[in-house]
Amino acid sequence: MTAKNVSKWYGSFRVLTNVNLSVRKGERVVICGPSGSGKSTLIRCFNRLEAHQEGEITVNGVRLHNKMRNVTEVRKSVGMVFQNFNLFPHMTVLMNCMAGPMWIKGVPEAEARKTAMKFLERVRIPEQANKYPVQLSGGQQQRVAIARSLCMEPAVMLFDEPTSALDPEMVSEVLETMTSLAQDGMTMVCVTHEMGFARSVADRVIFMDAGQIVEEGAPNDFFANPQHPRTKLFLSQVL
Ligand code: ATP
Ligand code: MG
Repeated sequence: MTAKNVSKWYGSFRVLTNVNLSVRKGERVVICGPSGSGKSTLIRCFNRLEAHQEGEITVNGVRLHNKMRNVTEVRKSVGMVFQNFNLFPHMTVLMNCMAGPMWIKGVPEAEARKTAMKFLERVRIPEQANKYPVQLSGGQQQRVAIARSLCMEPAVMLFDEPTSALDPEMVSEVLETMTSLAQDGMTMVCVTHEMGFARSVADRVIFMDAGQIVEEGAPNDFFANPQHPRTKLFLSQVL
């Protein structure tokens, strides 16, 4: 997954400026930075929830551009987990996990069910399969959201502040799920302010400010020895 010199505007407001980011297979990248710095916008460009105007984004060998016919193909290979879970409220947990494979990939129902149960077991909530999202805790809902993404067998998983809407006591169960995915070799890009997670799981930490990548490095260097004044200021506020 690569972004080369990517810029994006919302109207006349330049939200991303010449962003360069390359994520290798199996790599775990954490993106942090102040509110409004463009973190969500950047990762949403990687699955074409947002369109960029300049530069080049390539995902799984496919170049994303305005005239592309098959955005669905891209979304199949890029899973996304949002801050507010975004589960389908009128479907059971099981159906939430079966819907994408059946309706988007054309997987037969029995196979979709088997895959759904496999990933619900993977996130350790198979016993919730027949409940509706509203009957689950925030941490459980977020684990369902992760399982639902995994059912599509994506090449990359994007996480946009997956724990920031959770009550504090539920943060760790979601971080543990993400850590175990990382240990299985999943390629991951996570926007998060959970610096403990960044330290223990990330191969690389990226700091964004005002639509630009200001600094990046391996977690040890990044936390011990931030170079840019804006990085230092940010870390002093979150650590
Ligand atoms: P946060 O940490 O608060 O989630 P962020 O780093 O994810 O912030 P973005 O959501 O990417 O930031 O937003 C970057 C900038 O773009 C902000 O100034 C925001 O107000 C603006 N912005 C985001 N979405 C839109 C939109 N659809 N239309 C216009 N401006 C937008
Ligand atoms: Mg955001």
